[in-house]
Amino acid sequence: MPHPVIAIHAGAGAIARAELSAGREFEIRAALEAALEAGWKVLDADGASLDAVEQAVRVLEDCPLFNAGCGAVFNAEAEIELDACIMAGNGLRAGAVAGLRTVRNPVSLARAVMEHTPHVLLAGAGAEAFARSRGLEPVPPIYFQTIERRQALARVRAGAATADKDRHGTVGAVALDWAGDLAAATSTGGMTNKRQGRIGDSPIVGAGTYADQRVAVSCTGDGEVFLRCNAAFRVSALMELAGTTATQAARRTLALVKRLGGSGGMIAIDKSGAVTMPFNSEGMYRGIRRSNSSVRTGIYREDTQRRLP
Ligand code: ASP
Repeated sequence: MPHPVIAIHAGAGAIARAELSAGREFEIRAALEAALEAGWKVLDADGASLDAVEQAVRVLEDCPLFNAGCGAVFNAEAEIELDACIMAGNGLRAGAVAGLRTVRNPVSLARAVMEHTPHVLLAGAGAEAFARSRGLEPVPPIYFQTIERRQALARVRAGAATADKDRHGTVGAVALDWAGDLAAATSTGGMTNKRQGRIGDSPIVGAGTYADQRVAVSCTGDGEVFLRCNAAFRVSALMELAGTTATQAARRTLALVKRLGGSGGMIAIDKSGAVTMPFNSEGMYRGIRRSNSSVRTGIYREDTQRRLP
């Protein structure tokens, strides 16, 4: 029987290596570890992968370092609009939300859409009203705003943004539980300076988020390219139709993303608990926790050489 495992990412919009201070690296790794522990606690107590990915993503949404929930990027009107999706491999159940402005934890609203409506995706005012009807914690728009993201917006507007961290980011989790069920969740503020109303790949089932009985996937990167590639579903399709492993399928999908001009990465777990975390950007915040090993986190490629998948 495969053992449970959880993997997370906090976006391919990583700080450039040259700019990363030891203090900031410590904060980032501590936040990744806290998210992994939140998800792992669920799995270790024989809980469901769906609960594990939701709990891990909530921790990342609440952390101002990452582009989701508090700390999300600004759109072209200097507002924050949030997207999220959650999916259970067992039964192909999914829920998603887009364009949220006052919901503290979009991933939990996505789950409510899945469990308490006949729909898959709710956007804008209707999604906000549904959140209130479910009693989800509302916050004022200022709750999400950070000075760092405001400065990034100014740099992008001035054409002075050089690092991925100014442009985008996202958080996500994938997990396998003791019952052998897979789940995936993704949450994001999208791309800095995006047009008001723009929706990226993250809340779109099969683009930025996907889980079935074979594999669970969460993506991060240039959303328009991931959308056009159907990136998350493509991983499962390649495994089924081309007989590849999850690692090969994820790499092939990212190669296509790159050919189309997109940068980013993804995390995936297959039914056996094998984890893959490829990216073609300078870095991708990421981490993994499984039963027989301790928490491992990574930012750049050399962390992979230190045996992160
Ligand atoms: N994929 C996200 C979006 O386009 C952004 C990111 O992951 O960096 O909304």
